[in-house]
Amino acid sequence: MRSSPHILIIGGGVIGTSIACHLAVQGAKVTLVEARDLASGSSGACDGLVFLQSKKPGVHLQMAMESLKRFTTLQNQLPVPVEFIQTGGLVTIETPEEYRAMKTCVQDQQAIGLDVQLLDRDQVLKKEPGLSRRIIGAAYSPLDAKINPINLTLGFALAARKHHARILTRTPVTEILVKHNRVTGVVTSHGSIHADLVVNAAGAAAGSVARMAGIQMPVVPRRGQIAVTHAGPPVLHHCLISAGYIAAKYNPDLARTAGQGISMEQTKTGNLLLGATREFVGFDTGNTLPGIRNIITNAAARLPALASFQIIRTFAGLRPWTPDGLPILGPVSALDGFVMAAGHEGDGIALSAITGELMAAFLLDRKPGIPLDCFSPDRFDLHTTDPMRRTDPETRQPAVQTAPQGRIR
Ligand SMILES: Cc1cc2nc3c(=O)[nH]c(=O)nc-3n(C[C@H](O)[C@H](O)[C@H](O)COP(=O)(O)OP(=O)(O)OC[C@H]3O[C@@H](n4cnc5c(N)ncnc54)[C@H](O)[C@@H]3O)c2cc1C
Repeated sequence: MRSSPHILIIGGGVIGTSIACHLAVQGAKVTLVEARDLASGSSGACDGLVFLQSKKPGVHLQMAMESLKRFTTLQNQLPVPVEFIQTGGLVTIETPEEYRAMKTCVQDQQAIGLDVQLLDRDQVLKKEPGLSRRIIGAAYSPLDAKINPINLTLGFALAARKHHARILTRTPVTEILVKHNRVTGVVTSHGSIHADLVVNAAGAAAGSVARMAGIQMPVVPRRGQIAVTHAGPPVLHHCLISAGYIAAKYNPDLARTAGQGISMEQTKTGNLLLGATREFVGFDTGNTLPGIRNIITNAAARLPALASFQIIRTFAGLRPWTPDGLPILGPVSALDGFVMAAGHEGDGIALSAITGELMAAFLLDRKPGIPLDCFSPDRFDLHTTDPMRRTDPETRQPAVQTAPQGRIR
């Protein structure tokens, strides 16, 4: 790699902007290219939970714990108020089966040092008097937090620009340029841009962008619908998800058959965000009557005070889902200079700070603080497609060799 590479990032969501910010503050030469506006993808259509308890014990949870630490300092460094508040979080439990599963989960999390404990119903109601008595207990961590995801994305972008990163919005990338099996840049709606390294941070569209390089990357859009209430009095003091929500997150079959649980948070201004569905419906960001009705019914059953709130808005975002629930971070060995930073599913806001830091270290040829091996794109069989990527006009170099379908190795 050259000593001062030009790094081009595709995607102006929380992941792309975090990487741009972490690179730019270290003096790297960065261009970020966004098809629409900053935060116009999932990062602008989601909740803002920085939830540790919903992460898989292991490197996933380790990433989340490290990211959380970064937010406490980033909130004072970013040029936009990101509304980071450590409210503590509850994972509500409603059946004896859930209780048993959560007990094991809490023990695993405690074993790796997470401050988390199981509460019985009375202890839960003491913390959240507005909750229904159908809740038989909860796992509680004082560390769980929330943040404003749009402000966070804009904060990363503005900080990057302050440190001379070039940010181009309304500039979709349409092709990836390749020469001698090495990425040399991209073609955009406003012309081509040469770069030494190209980072695919296109969120749910990361699979489509990878296909431009002739690579099948198993990132699939997973829709999440959300209902928003008017700004009311405080009725919910903690971030809250149900145990069923975590189960549905990691098990798509369960999400289809046993319901999708619930997530709830009350913003600083008093609006309640009620979510969210988990659906594989392609790139459709519409809201559906059954989806929204389920969310509201589920939420009201757990928080009866909702009856006095009005729903003022609904929206939907596309989580970048991967088959093993982990993001895809690092170089694609089939194509030099092509680097992945996508696939954070429902955790991209929470993991954004650490993702930006680790990716910047890798891109600048330094050792990332957490090894990226288990996030490597090469853990999948990267089936390469017919060459859709454009060969560099200078050489007309053919596309990469083919490999089998996008399955976990
Ligand atoms: C309902 C819902 C609730 C969620 N709740 C939470 C939560 O509480 N906590 C949490 O941590 N996470 C949550 N998430 C997940 C989180 O939103 C995502 O993981 C995160 O936003 C992904 O960020 P990203 O930057 O990878 O993708 P995105 O924000 O989608 O950004 C990708 C960008 O790439 C751009 N792009 C695509 N193709 C191109 C192209 N060809 N050229 C140029 N640009 C392109 C897009 O326009 C987009 O702006 C939730 C998601 C949903 C849908």
